[in-house]
Amino acid sequence: MSGTEMKYINEAFESNWIAPLGPNVDAFEMEMASCVGVKGAVAVSTGTAAIHLALSLLDVQKGDTVFCSSLTFVASANPILYQGAEPVFIDSEPDTWNISPVALEKAFREAASASKIPKAVIIVNLYGQPAKMDELVSICKKYKVPIIEDAAESLGSKYKGKASGTFGDFGIFSFNGNKIITTSGGGMLVSNNTEALEKARFLATQARDPAPHYQHSVLGYNYRMSNILAGIGRSQLEVLDERVNKRRAIFETYQEELAHIPGISFMPELEGTFSNRWLTTFTINRSNTNLPPIELLHALDSENIEARHVWKPLHMQPLFSNYKYYPHAKNESVSEELFKTGICLPSGSAMTLEDQMRVISCIKKILVSG
Ligand SMILES: *Cc1c(COP(=O)(O)O)cnc(C)c1O
Repeated sequence: MSGTEMKYINEAFESNWIAPLGPNVDAFEMEMASCVGVKGAVAVSTGTAAIHLALSLLDVQKGDTVFCSSLTFVASANPILYQGAEPVFIDSEPDTWNISPVALEKAFREAASASKIPKAVIIVNLYGQPAKMDELVSICKKYKVPIIEDAAESLGSKYKGKASGTFGDFGIFSFNGNKIITTSGGGMLVSNNTEALEKARFLATQARDPAPHYQHSVLGYNYRMSNILAGIGRSQLEVLDERVNKRRAIFETYQEELAHIPGISFMPELEGTFSNRWLTTFTINRSNTNLPPIELLHALDSENIEARHVWKPLHMQPLFSNYKYYPHAKNESVSEELFKTGICLPSGSAMTLEDQMRVISCIKKILVSG
């Protein structure tokens, strides 16, 4: 926590706004919109809910398809299934680990020739690193398909000076406990389309028609954020820059200490982009180290250090085994390779240098001594 959360929580208590609406919600929405530079924002219960609302607003329905990054957390794609639509998964490219413009173009070409153009494309910015937005936006424009930018992990990141999450028709953020700032659980839908955001507000509050009684003409959801949690969010937003600096410093220390070890490659930061370095991740090349990532994870675990594999690509998940996948190149599946070789290191903003040096010396011991 940042330390000033109680001020906003007390305000909520004193004014008796303990509802999924109230002055903290309104203020948090305005502060987020101005922080990332968009016309409006709608605070919701989770990042997943924000993606679901965006798909609803884009009229994604049963029988439709939606293109989605494969290398991501399951929450990026689950709302496609909530709508009864079909995901089509797109591989990563090596420069950002995010959605490959080459694979995306191929998926669009085939979709166009089959007259099955998707209703939307969900572009994820993995571990804080912005995707190749210029290329991706221009492909989606060519086929006139709207973008939902999943910036759940990339609040505070920038692509050519512009905030991550603001390149699509809709952007979404998450304030889940593991993200760079948190409200314990929460999310935000952002857009420059204020009319669509009004509709999102309506859908997120059970789609209640303006009538003196309770009347409902369309299906809605109970997705709004509480005024108490929004208070936590306001306080957290005040320390976002600090958090980003801390995460980047953690990344830099790991890199300085470990990058010289043969076979270790850190997640790149594309030129012209600024990553919040939400998590520090690297890949281990087996031909250099002769060590499968799982053994490094076990060795760290035996020292009570929690590290993780990178996300398992969604096209490899049993849940999504029936859906199409477009690899980066005919014989090159970048996301599968990243899953096989990638590791996420402990990267929390509260981590001390001492903690970090303990992780580093443990990794050196394993990788250098073999
Ligand atoms: C965390 C996360 C989400 C979902 O956010 P919740 O607030 O947990 O629902 C969506 N996409 C990605 C890439 C995430 O990391």
